[in-house]
Amino acid sequence: MPALPCQTQPALFFAEAPAMLDAARSLCSSCDVQALCLAGAVERGEPHGVWGGQIFVGGTVVASKRGRGRPRRAA
Ligand code: SF4
Repeated sequence: MPALPCQTQPALFFAEAPAMLDAARSLCSSCDVQALCLAGAVERGEPHGVWGGQIFVGGTVVASKRGRGRPRRAA
């Protein structure tokens, strides 16, 4: 069985940069075990990273992740 993209490029799947996370998600879209991977990650409540084509933060799926930088200014 060929290596999975997350095995060959793990840094991409746990990156901070949104563009890198999008690239990881794209690789997941052609992965044979995407559905199983996502179900397992949800069950485990993965704290971070891209799993099954989704971005996890704090155990839940988020639509996108903000890059590092200056925090938002309080109103
Ligand atoms: S779907 Fe899961 S196993 Fe497949 S490349 Fe993405 S993170 Fe890896």
